[in-house]
Amino acid sequence: MSDLLVANALVVDGTGAAGRPGSVLVRGDRVEAVLEAGAPEPGAERLFDARGRVVAPGFVDVHQHSDMTPFVEPGMDSMLRQGVTSVLVGNCGGSAYPFEGAREHAAMAGADPNGLGLAPWTSFAAYLAAIDEARPALNVAALVGHGTVREAVIGRSHRSPTSDELEAMRGLLSGAMDEGAVGVSSGLIYVPGMHATTDELVEVARGLGGRGVYASHVRGEGTTVFDAVTECIEVGSRAGVPSHVSHLKVEGRRMWGRAAELLDLLERARAGGADVTADQYPYTAWETSLAATVPAWAPAEELPAILADPEARGRLREAIEHGEPGWESVGPDLGWERVVIGSHLPDPDLTGRTVAEITAERGVEPFEVIARLVIADPYTGMVGHGMDEDDVRTIVACADVFVASDALAVAPDGPLGAFGVHPRYYGTFARVLGRYARDERLLTLEDAVRKMTSLPAERFGLAGRGRIAPGAFADLVVFDPSSVIDTATFERPHAFAQGVELVVVNGRVAWDGAPGERVGRALRRGER
Ligand SMILES: [Zn+2]
Repeated sequence: MSDLLVANALVVDGTGAAGRPGSVLVRGDRVEAVLEAGAPEPGAERLFDARGRVVAPGFVDVHQHSDMTPFVEPGMDSMLRQGVTSVLVGNCGGSAYPFEGAREHAAMAGADPNGLGLAPWTSFAAYLAAIDEARPALNVAALVGHGTVREAVIGRSHRSPTSDELEAMRGLLSGAMDEGAVGVSSGLIYVPGMHATTDELVEVARGLGGRGVYASHVRGEGTTVFDAVTECIEVGSRAGVPSHVSHLKVEGRRMWGRAAELLDLLERARAGGADVTADQYPYTAWETSLAATVPAWAPAEELPAILADPEARGRLREAIEHGEPGWESVGPDLGWERVVIGSHLPDPDLTGRTVAEITAERGVEPFEVIARLVIADPYTGMVGHGMDEDDVRTIVACADVFVASDALAVAPDGPLGAFGVHPRYYGTFARVLGRYARDERLLTLEDAVRKMTSLPAERFGLAGRGRIAPGAFADLVVFDPSSVIDTATFERPHAFAQGVELVVVNGRVAWDGAPGERVGRALRRGER
């Protein structure tokens, strides 16, 4: 007897094909059959009547920072309840393997890095085995972060690696690929990724050995975004692997209105033979660490000395207030009233306040507010309201750009529940389905689902995921197309998406109005 029958649904299979009335039969961890409406329905242990509902492949979120979440909050609620069934971590140059990166990701997830009681993993395979053991609610695949590999080999140094060191970096990456990693990521606005030249990135990406993908948080998303995206494409081409631009956007007032040009650049590159894709989160604000507003020569550990030295202090003020050659500061373009403090462990009351407000209240200058907060908590979060809605809509409407969250999976009662997080942590997928596809009709429901399922799964080699077809993994979401919507806002981010009624992971019910079984797995590239 089959295990589950999702009956009387509109089946949207993830390929972009028009939805068809029918039912989906599940046995074990696989889709056993897709039945046309009216076909005789076999019995199953459990029947879910999905009349008036859509059944789609579970969403595949290829831009996640939940690298340590399986060990911190394995329920992964904020993503599960949007219908996400697989996440890809290790983005923006930072991964939990090598283990140097695990500490930082634990802190980002709101956990005490020393209190997790995990034995440091010495191989990528051991990291994946630890995820399997933690039994998260969702499947987890991982990239290896170039920044983390660089740090493991030469620390946070500004200098370029020697050829031996490059060989060591390539070796770490190549070994991880042998053990199931799906590619390498870079984060070129962060320390230490920002110190890498294009040549270094190419040399490291050659460690992929033609397998997997080079994904990049590119070197600039404001006035330099066109050059930065071009560099991403170049790295992939020279290293002989596909390239992928993470969280595609045009940021900063001076750039507003230019999203179509950016899409055009990608289109022209593809026409010229480049293999490049991109993903996007559907919001007009970004979120990163407050430390990204501080130039690289002023790392958190050196800020106290810099503030105490009049000359260095003046240089820091100048950089943060006006930027410096080769480095853009966010404040001058956006205004500090559009830069909002996110999680700040030492003083949660600062969450949600703007840099401008705190500056006025403390009677000091913005650069000093920022430096003091980074000293108190180097992982202080920041939200910048830096994009234009029309640009966001232009990219959402593009059928080829994947939907991805750039989130950590969180929960209102979890370690980050008291902190301001970005609403994308709870709302990304429901927002595209409800707001942009249904209400604004920027794209069809089928194209929206394709951007969340088959496209990202195929790109990152997650075999058997992202489609509803006999023999595919039974990762499914059932939602009400008339009511699905995000409810999280910047003011009240810890609010679940609505309209998702059933989530099935590896054939087991993970959500049906209440949390179900936790049967997520670590996913290894190409594994069927
Ligand atoms: Zn990023």
